[in-house]
Amino acid sequence: MSYLELKQVTAFYGAIQALKQIDLTVEEGEIVTLIGSNGAGKSTTLKTISGLVPVKEGSVIYKGQDITSRKAHQTTKLGVAHVPEGRRIFPKLTVKENLQIGAFGVKDKKLIEERMEKVFSYFPRVKERLHQLGGTMSGGEQQMLAIGRALMMDPDLLMLDEPSMGLAPIIVEQIFHIIKELNDDGMTILLVEQNAFQALKVAHRGYVLQTGSIWRSGKGQTLLADPTITEAYLA
Ligand code: ATP
Repeated sequence: MSYLELKQVTAFYGAIQALKQIDLTVEEGEIVTLIGSNGAGKSTTLKTISGLVPVKEGSVIYKGQDITSRKAHQTTKLGVAHVPEGRRIFPKLTVKENLQIGAFGVKDKKLIEERMEKVFSYFPRVKERLHQLGGTMSGGEQQMLAIGRALMMDPDLLMLDEPSMGLAPIIVEQIFHIIKELNDDGMTILLVEQNAFQALKVAHRGYVLQTGSIWRSGKGQTLLADPTITEAYLA
């Protein structure tokens, strides 16, 4: 049994079919990446897992449990964290308040402190900026805060939607380094990326989406070495 399994998942926006029979698995402890062009269905795939977009046909199984029809607040409780594209931190709240929102529902203050310390161990910059407003942080810092906020719920599966988007190369390197570090510490990660090269380098396995279908899948290294993929996505 896989940690996460999508079986023949389809999804629609009105009459437009965004996903066509998606089969995908993530094993515990893996980094799996979804790559593909704009509009291929990468974000929608994450949204069907977290419950932000309904699954029309097929099923989503998480740790042996059918979560196909679960709403987003329910999947969060089950340990699925979704860091959306564009980060979506609260610009008018402080960094600390943004983090506290991630632990929404947790009453134990000591536990919240512990989780915050853990976030700081990955993102020392976030600690330095604790009392600053979220909106005054740089793009890279906001991405770190968005990931940190997701970690505050102590998830089992971390889904990241284009964490490198719009960031300077040196910051992109840092983000990928932290993704690797989180995974080394045991976090299972499903990563959507436009930056196919970096994503395949860090991932155990990858899926290439094309217009709502899975076109290729395999080990990160194998996909990186495949000339049809390098031509299409790494040129
Ligand atoms: P991107 O990197 O541009 O986000 P993506 O691979 O994540 O691309 P999706 O965002 O999943 O792609 O979009 C898949 C398809 O669904 C596209 O054709 C897109 O135009 C369409 N789509 C996405 N969101 C909506 C929406 N809210 N309403 C209507 N169509 C949508």
